[in-house]
Amino acid sequence: MSSTSTNLESIQNKETSTVTIMNMPEQISLDKWADSGFEWQGEIAPASFERLAKLLTSEHEQSKLNLDASLYRHNNVLHFAFKLTGEIWLTCQRCLQPVETDLTDNYDIALLDDEDQSRLIDSEQDYLLLDEIITEQTPERLLPFKKLVEDEILLKTPLAPKHYDCEMVIEQFGEIPEEEESENPFAALAALKGKL
Ligand SMILES: [Zn+2]
Repeated sequence: MSSTSTNLESIQNKETSTVTIMNMPEQISLDKWADSGFEWQGEIAPASFERLAKLLTSEHEQSKLNLDASLYRHNNVLHFAFKLTGEIWLTCQRCLQPVETDLTDNYDIALLDDEDQSRLIDSEQDYLLLDEIITEQTPERLLPFKKLVEDEILLKTPLAPKHYDCEMVIEQFGEIPEEEESENPFAALAALKGKL
């Protein structure tokens, strides 16, 4: 996990309409990019996210997700923003058939040096403390780019996915009790992320 961070070879313009796919960086160097800004655009297979991969169904083809991500500063606060386009296929917890979850959304997280900086952001702005997400002791500060994107995807992924109008005939099983909302295993991710 070292130099993939600056994996920004120029894109070869091919005559075909296929998009050249560069590997998504695992990490990006904040020392290098925090001030100049950073952008990455590309496609990612949902299964390339290790934790997410465990939740995906193998009964339906997974399409690539499109990601358009950037680091920028606003009010002198660093932000990690990305637009995700695409959906993932999970398993309906009622009929066990594939069910789709759309991940398309704009995500924006302020990356604060310390709690004091939270005064500089809007009350609705999601934020994370850099100290809590940069856990590796390396000479340069590496933002876990891919992990942060995956965290957001996991937070948007339903714990018990179900078809909106699941057609499973429930009579043969009698009443299916409403499952209690058990604790989302990824709740810790949400807890990390402060809301003012
Ligand atoms: Zn179903």
